[in-house]
Amino acid sequence: MYKRVLLKISGEALAGENKHGIDPISIGNICDRIKILHDKGIEIGVVVGGGNFWRGRDDHDMERTTSDYIGMLSTVMNSLAVRDALEKRGVEAVVLTAIQMNVVAESYTKRNTEKYLKEGKVVIFSAGTGHPYFSTDTCAALRACEMNAEVILVAKTIDGVYSADPKIDKDAVKYDTITYSEVLKKNLQAMDSASTAICMENNIPLVVFSIFEPDNIVKAAEGKNIGTLVK
Ligand code: UDP
Repeated sequence: MYKRVLLKISGEALAGENKHGIDPISIGNICDRIKILHDKGIEIGVVVGGGNFWRGRDDHDMERTTSDYIGMLSTVMNSLAVRDALEKRGVEAVVLTAIQMNVVAESYTKRNTEKYLKEGKVVIFSAGTGHPYFSTDTCAALRACEMNAEVILVAKTIDGVYSADPKIDKDAVKYDTITYSEVLKKNLQAMDSASTAICMENNIPLVVFSIFEPDNIVKAAEGKNIGTLVK
């Protein structure tokens, strides 16, 4: 079992069948599992995406930087919702943000992250890296390094890393284990390439699994063999 993990949840996972916005049942299912990890004494950082509201790279007929800031703000909305759902379950949680907005959430620093983790609080990193042209995957990789996480649990809408997109290529095969360099060389979809490179340089393994089976969050944190391990 890992002692300190970074959980990356795509925004889409919070939307449920609606594919947009926040579905209370979906967020509840995820937070029930985060509570199980918390009750086991695992220290948890969480990065939530924003794709259920906005992705900067989609065609919005808008200047990219502005579009990316809207994307980052959408991760703040999701993070507040995750904090609320955790608190409803009796789990203390704090939202830190990479973009200053003191009334809404405390600004991110490594020091307050460490302090809150030691206090047993779940730390939710919002607003991504605070920089346009990046992604919440990059944020997950960076925060995992800074908080000395042993692993990144990557909860996606697909159940692992495949040799090709299984929706398009019926011969696509799922990897149980794969190296960072193979992921990069073959341009496979584990996390984006910038994030994979950061994890490779800093030797942080990734476990990629499907969020549609929320118990996977617990299994992945227990080090069980699910999805794909990138190391
Ligand atoms: N974003 C950004 N910088 C960051 C993180 C996120 O500009 O460091 C913006 C970007 O527009 C991105 C959006 O926020 O499309 C939502 O994040 P992401 O696409 O990673 O969410 P996910 O696909 O995981 O739900």
